[in-house]
Amino acid sequence: MNKSKLPHVVIIGTGGTIASTAPSSTALTDYSVTEGIDSLLKAVPEIAKLARIGGEQLFNIESFAITNKMLLKMATRVNQLLADPDIDGIVITHGTDTLEESAYFLNLTVKSHKPVVLVGAMRPGSAISADGPLNLYNAVLLAAHPQASHLGVLVSLNDRIVAARFVSKTNTTQVDTFRSYEQGCIGHINNQQVHLYQTPTRLHTTQTDFDISATKALPSVDIIYDHQNAGLHFYEASIAAGAQGIVVAACGNGSMSPQARKGARLAVKHKVICVRSSRVGSGIVSASVNDARQRLVSANSLNPQKARILLMLALGVTGDIAQIQSYFDRY
Ligand code: ASP
Repeated sequence: MNKSKLPHVVIIGTGGTIASTAPSSTALTDYSVTEGIDSLLKAVPEIAKLARIGGEQLFNIESFAITNKMLLKMATRVNQLLADPDIDGIVITHGTDTLEESAYFLNLTVKSHKPVVLVGAMRPGSAISADGPLNLYNAVLLAAHPQASHLGVLVSLNDRIVAARFVSKTNTTQVDTFRSYEQGCIGHINNQQVHLYQTPTRLHTTQTDFDISATKALPSVDIIYDHQNAGLHFYEASIAAGAQGIVVAACGNGSMSPQARKGARLAVKHKVICVRSSRVGSGIVSASVNDARQRLVSANSLNPQKARILLMLALGVTGDIAQIQSYFDRY
């Protein structure tokens, strides 16, 4: 295809294992972020055949160090780039540890139908059988694909295409870690061909109430893990620290231990919005008849880390429990 006719894809680097190297080719865990976006692009010259490529470095860190401020910077930059009619899609190279949080945040705040694809790697670039280069190639192939628009933000690693709303990191080290147990993949990339099978039904991008263009800071929302013999002290500390929301990684179908229930009551008393998610990892936290009376919100099928993302954005719009619950049931 004539080069000038190729789609224009901008690759934004943020760090992570995909941009990391280790002292030896067999070291798969102890590594550090050493490579900038330019060296990632140099390692995969084949992408020049897929699209006209732009590259920029937003920051270059492990994703567990990403802050709310960086999330806002990422979404703002993506919206600026996609507003350019000459840009057809975005790829973001990102650490895998919190990739699902950034992907879901963008899924709710990007105001464009164009493809946004997040990609990472489970092995550093220095490793035997590093997975980053082919993951990056496939992510560009997807972002340049005409059918990849209007799907919300996508995550693609290991030949799979998963919707940001449903994806989570399901294994600490395996290359096949990004899955959605209940909704599966919306597509696959097979031998340079993009195969898309489904369209996510949950509202995203231009369909949401969230506009961060004037947002200077996101509300503080904590996650508190529930378990046998849990104490009240994390709730007390979170409220004292000024949290505006608390997500409980509750047991089973959103069941809370006696002290967690006491902590939730304390939160509500201090006008801190409390969401019941689950530590289980998949499935829906059923709405309970008691939620309205106890002024609690069910996270629906959002895991705790994604429930925190939605609650931060919801609190930027409203403190109304019923409206916040409707966000969890639709986004
Ligand atoms: N181990 C992580 C990764 O796979 C590190 C990170 O999230 O930055 O990218």
